[in-house]
Amino acid sequence: MQFGPRVPGTPAHERTGDWILEHLRATADTIAVQSFTHVTRQGTSLHLRNFLARFRPAATERVLLLAHWDTRPHADQSANLGQQRLPVPGANDGASGVALLLGVADVLKTKPPTVGVDLLFVDGEDYGNFATDSNDVLIGTRYFARHQPPGYQPLFAVLFDMVADKDQQFYYEGNSQAFAPEVVDRVWRTAADLGYGRVFLPGVKPTLIDDHVALQQAGIHAIDVVDFDYPYRSDLPQPPPSSTTSSTSFDRIFSAHRA
Ligand SMILES: [Zn+2]
Repeated sequence: MQFGPRVPGTPAHERTGDWILEHLRATADTIAVQSFTHVTRQGTSLHLRNFLARFRPAATERVLLLAHWDTRPHADQSANLGQQRLPVPGANDGASGVALLLGVADVLKTKPPTVGVDLLFVDGEDYGNFATDSNDVLIGTRYFARHQPPGYQPLFAVLFDMVADKDQQFYYEGNSQAFAPEVVDRVWRTAADLGYGRVFLPGVKPTLIDDHVALQQAGIHAIDVVDFDYPYRSDLPQPPPSSTTSSTSFDRIFSAHRA
């Protein structure tokens, strides 16, 4: 958050990427950086980077966890017209998933997993307009789907987006439940077993085009853990105070997978 909005094409975006990479170099067994240029519909060239941090890279049984690290250039969902042209701060939509994955990286460094784990930080998720043009959204994940490690076949993938609400409530996301219901069931059941049944609630609520859909199209059983019912979404200037409760829950849930 201290870097400011992480909008592709800005110095804050570059600095944030360097900062994430530095943390991953200190924790992961290996790191792959996918650095590429994306030309937007309007002709702007963006330098984007995906980071794939791998734990036990030789293990054939693998799990993929991902989040996007860029933030949206315009707060177009804001009820305040004057704010709609400004970038979003991205505490919940951007930083929360990154914080979660970096926390998981720290845990995996101290307690190596029994299966291989890959943490993927994707860029350019939120640049364009989801409603009108698919060219400039989900850019990093679509790039990853086309440039996977050779023979890559993770057992499943879990995307985290908007996971820092103070009163966190996760319902099943529609495209996740349609494509990979067994993964949804596994994650929600593990959460309930750990006592987080009031955070991970049953039933489908939102249906979203998010990074998991780009992975699904590549055959990966990917789901989205997202709390879309977030009143401050894309509002400015102050996001609400985020809670550490939810990332603590996640650390425990994904540590439990290692058992
Ligand atoms: Zn997001």
